[in-house]
Amino acid sequence: MNNHLHPDIPHIKKYLLETVGDEGYSLAKFIHEKQPVTIEEIQEAHGGNPSELRKKLYLLESAHAAEYQVETGPKGWQTFIWNTNLYNIEFLLEKKREAEMRALEKKLEVAQSGLFFECTNCSIRETFDGAYGHDFACPVCGKLMQQSDSGKYIERLRKRISELV
Ligand SMILES: [Zn+2]
Repeated sequence: MNNHLHPDIPHIKKYLLETVGDEGYSLAKFIHEKQPVTIEEIQEAHGGNPSELRKKLYLLESAHAAEYQVETGPKGWQTFIWNTNLYNIEFLLEKKREAEMRALEKKLEVAQSGLFFECTNCSIRETFDGAYGHDFACPVCGKLMQQSDSGKYIERLRKRISELV
C-alpha cells in the first residue's frame, strides 16, 4: 500500500498542511517512511510529551491521513501500530474536485443559457428570473441592476474548469 503516494506530493502536502499543520505533516512523513511503526518508536523519535503526541496522532487519524491497529501480545500487552493511508486523502480530494467541477459546470450552463443582471455596487449577479422577481432592484442596496456581459464570467468559469480537469 501507499507505494506511489507520498506526503511530499504537492496536493497531498497541501492537504496535510491545511488539516493537521506543520507538525502533523512532519509526523505523517515520519510514519510514512517508517511504517508500520509502533507508537513507542514514534515517541522515541519525536520525544516530548506522550499525551501531546497521542493528540497529534489522533488528529492525523481524524484527517484520514493515518490509521492504527492494535496488536495484543502473548502477555496481554497492547501495541499500537501506525500506518499512513494516503489513498484516503486521494479519494477525498478526488470527491472534492468532482463536486467543484459539477458546481462550475452548472454555473457555466446557467451563464450560457441566458441574460444576467448585476449590481455594480455589490457585484451581485442574478439570472433574469431572479432579478425580475424584485423588479431589477439589487436585493442588498436597492440600486437598479444592469444587464451584465457574461463573456468574461464565462471565460473565468471555463478557465477554472480547465484547471481542474
Ligand atoms: Zn447592490
